[in-house]
Amino acid sequence: MKIGVIGTGYVGLVTGTCLAELGHEVICVDALPQKIDLLNDGGCPIYEPGLIELIRKQRQAERLSFSTDLAAMAPDRDAIFLAVGTPPGPDGEADLGFVRAAVRDLAPHLAGFTAVVTKSTVPVGTGDQIDAMLADLRPDADVAVVSNPEFLREGSAIGDFLKPDRIVVGTDDLRARETMQALYAPLTDGGAPLLITDRRTSELIKYAANAFLAVKISYINEIADLCEELGADAARVAEGMGLDARIGARFLEPGPGFGGSCFPKDTDALLGTGRAAAVPLRVVTAASEANRERKRLLAARVAAVAGELKGRTVAVLGLTFKAGTDDMREAASLELIPELQRRGAKVRAFDPKGMEAARDLLPGVAFCRDAYDAAKSASAVVILTEWPNFRTLDLKRLGAVVETPLLIDMRNLFHPEDATRAGFDYVSIGRPAVA
Ligand code: NAD
Repeated sequence: MKIGVIGTGYVGLVTGTCLAELGHEVICVDALPQKIDLLNDGGCPIYEPGLIELIRKQRQAERLSFSTDLAAMAPDRDAIFLAVGTPPGPDGEADLGFVRAAVRDLAPHLAGFTAVVTKSTVPVGTGDQIDAMLADLRPDADVAVVSNPEFLREGSAIGDFLKPDRIVVGTDDLRARETMQALYAPLTDGGAPLLITDRRTSELIKYAANAFLAVKISYINEIADLCEELGADAARVAEGMGLDARIGARFLEPGPGFGGSCFPKDTDALLGTGRAAAVPLRVVTAASEANRERKRLLAARVAAVAGELKGRTVAVLGLTFKAGTDDMREAASLELIPELQRRGAKVRAFDPKGMEAARDLLPGVAFCRDAYDAAKSASAVVILTEWPNFRTLDLKRLGAVVETPLLIDMRNLFHPEDATRAGFDYVSIGRPAVA
């Protein structure tokens, strides 16, 4: 099938490349010429494991190409995916400016039957708005507007796309339904469940799923706080909870609070939807507030064990919102580090993939060669992102360069006994310290 993708960010680029991998002929378009130039030169504007290799493979197979020319891409496509950003607006509601602009750009060039598929995460009713826009701009166009929310996770996006837990498609249009079924047949033939609903339901599934995951994280984080006060072990509590099939073991890892481009913005957007519909969403409100407060208090957590921070050095290991990505959006580091600095600490930091993006966002930070370099003369070392390489740090070597052997592990990467044996005062999340 002939596919177009508008937006070559984390979602658009992965979607386009993976649809090419499924055998479709895909053209990805972006408004930023520098992104398209980089892609056409064999580069990749984002870090996502395995992506650059898959892009190369699909370009060589001539199934994948990149362009800024929407007019040339649009006319003969079976489906065109909208994968542009939907950032938070001033009140937390999703800002649909990029979606509307993309629809306006696209409308004049539609020809033949086209499924216009919204991959971006958009509030309920956005499909109706796009329908109305297209009817206004191009009353003659033969289009069906489809919702097809994306559930991939940065860091494992390719696997998530090619082996999804489910594919959700929202449409009442028979031709669009057949187009989407044919498009995803290589995945559904392999066993991926395809859930077809009306468009509004499909739009809401994405928000309801993300908000539920946000609730799960905030829940285990508060249980971890309780464990710290009561001398219980949150990891074992989570294990004991997770063995219940109704609960499940995943997403029960306490940490510094959720970040990234999805959970904070999507919970806020859902709350906006609830407000507009006059339906109180108290559970989601609480999860969102608990998370905001948790991130606000990260520096206080450090000060509570490290003492006075003025004039002292704090090493921060990990800046991105999670491992496996260079994405800094809503990362905990953006809350922790400025507050450490405000309290007078000097911050030295290292991240395997995030430092380029972090440089502009975190002024005054010394960006270091590696974790050992960051830890030089530190009064506390804080692990903030769960990069696998941090798990295998040589704690003896780390201990030799710090000023004070205090390790604050906000991702529970180490066994308390191992860290203590290596000479560190070790503080983790929701686990008792070793005496
Ligand atoms: P992103 O900011 O990384 O990428 C968006 C891209 O769209 C950019 O390259 C931008 O230049 C381009 N763009 C904007 N307007 C355009 C236009 N008019 N024409 C052509 N290109 C245009 O965003 P993202 O992280 O890929 O997210 C995209 C959407 O997918 C959002 O709605 C997000 O909520 C959703 N989503 C994201 C994830 C994730 O993990 N990042 C997961 C699931 C869903």
